[in-house]
Amino acid sequence: MAIVSLTDVAKTYPARDRHAPDVTAVDDVTLTVDPGDIFGIIGYSGAGKSTLVRLINALEPATSGSIVVDGTDITTLSETQLRRVRSGIGMIFQQFNLFSSKTVAANVAYPLKLAGWPKAEIQERVAELLAFVGLADRARAYPEQLSGGQKQRVGIARALATRPAILLADEATSALDPQTTHEVLALLKRVNEEQGVTIILITHEMDVIQTIATKVAVMENGQVIEQGDVFEVFSRPQNPASQRFVSTVIKGIPTPTEIASLRERHEGRLVTFSFRDGDSSQAQVLLDLAEAGLGFEVVYGGINDIRGRAFGHLTLAIRGTDAVIDQTLDVIRTRTEVTELPTEGGQA
Ligand code: ADP
Repeated sequence: MAIVSLTDVAKTYPARDRHAPDVTAVDDVTLTVDPGDIFGIIGYSGAGKSTLVRLINALEPATSGSIVVDGTDITTLSETQLRRVRSGIGMIFQQFNLFSSKTVAANVAYPLKLAGWPKAEIQERVAELLAFVGLADRARAYPEQLSGGQKQRVGIARALATRPAILLADEATSALDPQTTHEVLALLKRVNEEQGVTIILITHEMDVIQTIATKVAVMENGQVIEQGDVFEVFSRPQNPASQRFVSTVIKGIPTPTEIASLRERHEGRLVTFSFRDGDSSQAQVLLDLAEAGLGFEVVYGGINDIRGRAFGHLTLAIRGTDAVIDQTLDVIRTRTEVTELPTEGGQA
């Protein structure tokens, strides 16, 4: 059974001034997170990701639709009942949100105090959590004495203190450099694997999704435009809106500006071939072109690695008569995805 499921959820904010239309921040979203998932929600700024998170952790009510968290429909609960739901969800933030006047240990102890844990148990739990995040020796330090990565590790320890089943990460690595990002992501992976915590992470960074997420939902204009297995969604997006988004975040697909510059530098038709681990052969494509007597050059490309599985795109400038090129591409198309890049006029 799903641990979080949203059905036809919408959130509308009243217009900021009375002449403007209302803002639909989340628009008819249906999605399912299973226990044990690392579920990524990706989209540009303004797509509705933060609003979705505030709905899931019941900080704001939905305008319509139903949200079920751990078996409870939270759209119908009283404030007291909502507090109990919230205590089953840990949160970490881009700016860490630590108390600067409290020590690391006191920050981690805070939610346990609120929950009324006895002092001795709090001490024991805090020590255990700090050891888990690798900060046992910094218990008495203050946040300002820590690096960004260490602050986020304190944030993670604090979020896990009361043993929530779900951890919500809101742009949790966006303020960190790439090396520190990878350390924090590795820790989140351990949280998921060793403690069985389901993680929902929202981000605008493809790197985050491709490093740890098992499933992904792509958001645009308040809507989830595609969701599913990360490898499937990014290697073969199904609808034009998600294809557009995916092409901007993965490696190997030239932008319109790059296409224009490729055209200036190379003769022939520009064709992109897409390859996925295990199901298509690059060598065969090149052989087919050569055997048809066509001339070609590799002009653009890139490989993406998603949790150890690769897919990539290779753009070739192909020279020869149109009829032979068309015929050969038809043969190749039966085995792998072929996309002819638009000419200056915008037509393929
Ligand atoms: P993201 O997290 O993907 O950047 P948000 O959920 O923050 O997107 O915002 C989605 C849209 O909703 C934006 O157009 C934003 O301006 C609007 N919005 C978010 N919160 C509010 C609010 N409290 N009042 C009015 N509009 C809001």
